[in-house]
Amino acid sequence: MTALADRLRARIAATGPLSIAEFMVECLLDPRDGYYTTRDPLGAAGDFVTAPEISQMFGECLGLALAQAWLDRGAPAPFALAELGPGRGTLMADILRTTARVPGFHAGLRLHLVEVSPALRAVQAKRLGDADPTWHADVTTLPDLPLFLVANEFFDALPVRQFLRAGAGWRERVVGLVEGRLSFGLTDAAPVAALAPRLSDTAEGDMVALCPSAAAITGEIGQRIAAAGGVALIVDYGDWGGTGDTFQAVQAHRKVDPLACPGEADLTAHVDFSALAAAAAPALATRPVPQGVLLERLGITARAQALARGMEAGPGRDAHIAAHRRLTHPDEMGSLFQAIALHSRGTPPPPGFDT
Ligand code: SAH
Repeated sequence: MTALADRLRARIAATGPLSIAEFMVECLLDPRDGYYTTRDPLGAAGDFVTAPEISQMFGECLGLALAQAWLDRGAPAPFALAELGPGRGTLMADILRTTARVPGFHAGLRLHLVEVSPALRAVQAKRLGDADPTWHADVTTLPDLPLFLVANEFFDALPVRQFLRAGAGWRERVVGLVEGRLSFGLTDAAPVAALAPRLSDTAEGDMVALCPSAAAITGEIGQRIAAAGGVALIVDYGDWGGTGDTFQAVQAHRKVDPLACPGEADLTAHVDFSALAAAAAPALATRPVPQGVLLERLGITARAQALARGMEAGPGRDAHIAAHRRLTHPDEMGSLFQAIALHSRGTPPPPGFDT
């Protein structure tokens, strides 16, 4: 057990159980022992691998989609090129390399990174320092410029509250203490105003999640895009609405008990894209498109073939072919991961998306 686990137990003993959201914030972002604050969790040697870490083709496809969306909007300059939760900076490095020959794109861009983790900010500074990034703790301080934004596997890390349907009310799932050990529990049933719309599409005993910070962030981005123009591309694993317990912990590429080692495992929940879309007004949100379909539409197969032609037969080329399959195939990341785009009223959705 960790020092963070001791502090959590003391806090619960003193003031009562924590919501899942409060527990996630402590475990992920505690300044001393939080999962993201203290480490770089990405890559084969870490806890999980993301699409940009699997292949450069992911960032190349998204980079070209962003650049085309920028051209379609009259190539506004200056503009903010922004990323939420850039991890190791790999996706943004691939986007910058791919867009280097788009006339005016690099001259016009101002790079803005939203990142809470000091450890990952340091990795990003090394990788992206030439593009002179400005870091932000959240989206509220982004500049008032046309906004071209990407977020991959960012929203799944935001804290969710979970509720179990009980009659016309809801029991909230909490983390409490049983014989001194962290344990899941449920509050008594009560009405929850924000869940009123879910009374019509859920049944007794169904579990649903609310992610207040995700709605606040897409709301802020939607307002900025409606005011100054631009697009946002959001990729993550999730569903449209949906029910069930998707709160999970992952350590060294394996699912583990979320209560076992606070601060030492990644905690996530599936993203509810319907909630992101609803919060994006006055900007428009596209329908979700499966990652595999999006990447196909953006030309990943032609790109994969072109790259393969330059490779000798052997393990490197085999890994490249496997990466293409992993990103796009429905049995791998192709349909678990979905994407939506936000854009302003009266403008077309970015390439690869439809309304
Ligand atoms: N987008 C990257 C990394 C995904 S991991 C990739 O695809 O590889 C999640 C990222 O979001 C990390 O950089 C993490 O530090 C950051 N993050 C998590 N919670 C955050 C929050 N509340 N605010 C800002 N950044 C956050």
